[in-house]
Amino acid sequence: MRTRYSGLKKVFIILGAIFSIANSVVSGTIIQRMQYLSVGNVSIPSSSLNGTLQGFGALICIAMVLLDYQFGFILAVSCIAFSLFGTLRAIIGFRNLTPLPGAINCILYIIALVLISSQLRKSRKAELTDKLTGQINRYGFEEIIHKKIRAFEKGSIIFIHLQGLTDININLGRNRGDYILKTISSRIDRIINGVGESYKLEGAEFAIFVREGHDCEDLVLKLINSIEEKIEMEGDDNNFNVYVTCKAGIADCINRYVNPDTLMKNADIAMNHAIRSEDMKYCFFNDRIKRQAEREHDVEGFVKEALENGYFYLVYQPQFRIKDKSLRGFESLIRMKLPDGTFVSPAEFIAVAERSDLILRIDAFVLRRAMEEFKEICEKYDYKVVLSINISAKDIAIEGFADTVLQVIEETKFPKKCLELEITEYSFAKSGDKTLENIFRLRDENIMFAIDDFGTGYTSLAQLLNLPANLLKIDKSLIDNICTDETNRDFVNAVIYMGHLMNCEVISEGVEDEDQLTLLKNLGCDFVQGYVWSKPIDYTSVIETCREYVK
Ligand code: C2E
Ligand code: CA
Ligand code: CA
Repeated sequence: MRTRYSGLKKVFIILGAIFSIANSVVSGTIIQRMQYLSVGNVSIPSSSLNGTLQGFGALICIAMVLLDYQFGFILAVSCIAFSLFGTLRAIIGFRNLTPLPGAINCILYIIALVLISSQLRKSRKAELTDKLTGQINRYGFEEIIHKKIRAFEKGSIIFIHLQGLTDININLGRNRGDYILKTISSRIDRIINGVGESYKLEGAEFAIFVREGHDCEDLVLKLINSIEEKIEMEGDDNNFNVYVTCKAGIADCINRYVNPDTLMKNADIAMNHAIRSEDMKYCFFNDRIKRQAEREHDVEGFVKEALENGYFYLVYQPQFRIKDKSLRGFESLIRMKLPDGTFVSPAEFIAVAERSDLILRIDAFVLRRAMEEFKEICEKYDYKVVLSINISAKDIAIEGFADTVLQVIEETKFPKKCLELEITEYSFAKSGDKTLENIFRLRDENIMFAIDDFGTGYTSLAQLLNLPANLLKIDKSLIDNICTDETNRDFVNAVIYMGHLMNCEVISEGVEDEDQLTLLKNLGCDFVQGYVWSKPIDYTSVIETCREYVK
């Protein structure tokens, strides 16, 4: 699109040049030889007609410069120079000063074109420059990469994303955020000096072009180390240090045949891959991560479609008391079935949805649907059945989440005391004020909380002692080798002991065989949820399970 557009501009400019030259030839030869041009009974002196034609030619030249202040300018000035040359030749050749005003006009037009083009150059430069760092911005970067590829220049591009800058802007103010960006931009420039060029993209992102023949990995490591060094800031009373972390993506090997937009997209994919991964600081683009990004894009599309067209439904996995296999309740688990019959695993689509706000829509769907389906069951069994619903970290951290839950409870007339919300240990560890506010507000309304995936190692001891939960769910990863790994067994033992100290009950998740079950029973674990006693089941089977196991 972009090349077609600039190609079209060039065609217009060349046509303009041809027209302009033809115009000066006509005015310099044919009209020059006539004294007057007669139209009807009006006679127009050829000199005034010449002036009009010259003005017309100048207008075309201005349009050429406006279309392209570089290429158009060169051609436009050449056209006027051509006309000037003809005029000067007439003056010198015929020793006649009559065409002198025409020559002066030409010089004035050239001056006007120089002024217009330099003004355009300046405003274009401002358009392509990042005001804060003075580096070329994304638009400039894209143009330069297009040019480099056309010019057979080879190399790689690196995208760098600074993390936590939004928090810095919020907590320390935008001026300090700007100072950090400037500091980092000069650190980047220092490191890539002689190796490539750097550009400032939007927000907290930089791009670097590395010329062929340099070790990109080594360079990225140097860049990351330098960016992540402390930044000294002046405080009101004392100076303090700020640390910024970053992630990088590298798209290798620019060559003549690569599409510049694809190349930049690849660097973006690689950078996003590193951003999403917990432990990866940088990532080279490859086909595997490309396929992964494409799949995620597809899955995101499925989630949207599923929300709109009702491809989501719920299954429920029973939770039993270990000592007598009586039923505690059920965890609701979402499922997606596409119209062609394929299932997409929640482990896959929940992770994708969590990266956008789609997870909030999923949580809202599950909350309402699960409560609607379970209202009668809870009432029928004298409120002895617990309905456990997974809530994402994003949702629980939103102001007003507690109100939303209470509203759904009211609308579905669900008995509050049967409701348990599962939040992961991870979301609890990362929780801020809003999360705790929501949890305490809902606990005041007698709603229970379970800490999911417990033991995956995110909570500090201090947080642990203040967990506002009634149930700890030991993660399946700890249960898997509990019979063979003594350290794991000791750890699970400690978790159960600690849970009880904290007045929590403990449930083990992902229990698959009798040996694990017996061991957990001996360790004093209260409940079990796992294939050993039941896989997740549909609503009809829930009714049968209640009939059989509620005691
Ligand atoms: P989770 O909350 O830890 O859910 C437990 C997962 O372990 C479920 O997988 C369950 O089917 C599986 N599971 C239970 N017992 C066993 C067992 O003995 N063996 C094995 N191999 N697996 C067992 P599922 O349903 O695929 O869900 C995966 C994850 O997706 C959930 O992990 C949860 O993080 C998320 N998820 C599922 N439903 C929802 C939902 O409604 N809302 C939200 N926000 N997340 C959900
Ligand atoms: Ca769960
Ligand atoms: Ca879990």
